[in-house]
Amino acid sequence: MNRLKDKVAIVTGGARGMGAATVRLFVAEGAKVVIADVLDDDGAKLAAELGPAARFVHHDVTDESGWRLLIDFTNQAYGPIDVLVNNAGVLLFKTIAETDKAEFERVVGINLVGCFLGTKLVGAQMIRRGRGSIINISSADGMKAANGLGAYSASKWAVRGFTKVAAMEFGHKGVRVNSVHPGGIDTAMGNPYAEPKAEVNKRYAMVPLQRVGDPSEVAYTNLFLASDESSYLCGAEIAVDGGMLTGQYYVGFPGAPGV
Ligand code: NAD
Repeated sequence: MNRLKDKVAIVTGGARGMGAATVRLFVAEGAKVVIADVLDDDGAKLAAELGPAARFVHHDVTDESGWRLLIDFTNQAYGPIDVLVNNAGVLLFKTIAETDKAEFERVVGINLVGCFLGTKLVGAQMIRRGRGSIINISSADGMKAANGLGAYSASKWAVRGFTKVAAMEFGHKGVRVNSVHPGGIDTAMGNPYAEPKAEVNKRYAMVPLQRVGDPSEVAYTNLFLASDESSYLCGAEIAVDGGMLTGQYYVGFPGAPGV
């Protein structure tokens, strides 16, 4: 109940999906949370549901001056920021040949530049206080390749690398920076046609746990990284992927599914 007692957090992309699951869990564990998203209806509805411990702010993570307003709002509403979850993201499913420059730049702008701005600007306040936890949501696609995900994968590999640099520059100033690498998660992004879980699970037959992940399973990892329980983690990368990144089964070999 109190794993985040008295902590103040910002969750970008917190209006739905795993961001919303993170917001809910953080509030349940005693945090005060600002939900920052471009989805006004979803964000306002979630904040209303959670009561005084959550507020919604319309915020586009690519907007530098918007970050300053978001930080001021959070400071005034709840006080100094202890936790930032850079979770906002977009997916583009196209081959490199089909992707045009503007599309590539949009994905990198939201997924990577947004993460940079948040880390830099919220991180500056954390450094002044000598404490804080920044959680950058990368992806399993920030650790492997996947056809059709050139822009997305590039942005998520970059978030992973950027997180390591931030960990080095911020760690000795008391601010921990870590990355989380979800595999397939049952959200609007991971399951865009809202298919039943049993259907989606079929696509994960060759992942060791053989199922799609639930947003709450990423939220619990974010909770650990946000809390003081992870006080010695800095520059870590945590895969929440049902084992997807562990390896590739040799079909028919001993130990493979169905053998
Ligand atoms: P989602 O689409 O449900 O949520 C993404 C949220 O980001 C939305 O609320 C959206 O409005 C917000 N957002 C998009 N652009 C924004 C912007 N410019 N400014 C502020 N907010 C913006 O998807 P999700 O699955 O919950 O994704 C959350 C994060 O997890 C993303 O970074 C995504 O890349 C990553 N991820 C998802 C999966 C998956 O399978 N679902 C796997 C690996 C990583």
